[in-house]
Amino acid sequence: MKPLSATTAPAENSNRYSRQSFLGTGAEAAIARCTVGLPGLGGGGSHIVQQLAHIGFQRYVIYDDDVVEESNLNRLVGARLADAAAGTRKIDVAKRMIRGLQPDAEIRAFPCRWQKRPEPLRECQIVFGCVDSYLGRSELEIACRRYLMHYIDIGMDVHGLETPVIGGQVILSSPGGLCMRCMGFLTDEQLAQEAARYGNAGARPQVVWPNGALASTAVGLAVDLITNWTRRRRLHAYLSYDGNAATIKDSITLRNLDPNSCTHFPASQVGDPVFAEL
Ligand SMILES: [Zn+2]
Repeated sequence: MKPLSATTAPAENSNRYSRQSFLGTGAEAAIARCTVGLPGLGGGGSHIVQQLAHIGFQRYVIYDDDVVEESNLNRLVGARLADAAAGTRKIDVAKRMIRGLQPDAEIRAFPCRWQKRPEPLRECQIVFGCVDSYLGRSELEIACRRYLMHYIDIGMDVHGLETPVIGGQVILSSPGGLCMRCMGFLTDEQLAQEAARYGNAGARPQVVWPNGALASTAVGLAVDLITNWTRRRRLHAYLSYDGNAATIKDSITLRNLDPNSCTHFPASQVGDPVFAEL
């Protein structure tokens, strides 16, 4: 796995990060060296990129093929009324937010889906997945496992007819740990059901505060991966959000799983795929 630790920090002596010095000596340098990937800068990704910029991240690989519309303004952090009127690209909203806090940040921004330009994503150490579909999550996790990257997935949904029920999840899937299939989050049945619904899923409900809670939790996991400030060294996590109860708890599905039992991503599937000569 790519190293995330550090020993020295150019920003360590400044006052700017003094309130997060509990993260440890060298934390800011490690954070500054970590390349983060965000393939999706909507309701979830916009929260995450904002927090990463505040924390001190300097290296970003971001993707989004969409522009700001009026219907995004209920949840897209950083977007302004004028962006909806002008049709500003979501990657430009994210760049503006990062640049306002980290003017020297290295931002590689692509106005397309990540699958069209997958190579830059492979240079990340941590990828945040804030996508709508199970298929999109599966593709991201596969790419992350192949290139030994940590994958942190967030998502929310609203169920229920008479009483709306807001649910969501934050999942960490790291090389060597349990994957989203082990954790019961991704199944062939869900992928098949989603494929059958394709084209008539409609616009799903999305609101800013569950995304904020989920994004904050995801960022917390990422900072812990880099600094190990909790001393937990997690290789996987499955946290369930109950928006009606306002809680985030460990999913009960993990309780009986052997943490070393993943068979979905064998070591032989690391690196570029090798094709037989034609
Ligand atoms: Zn697995």
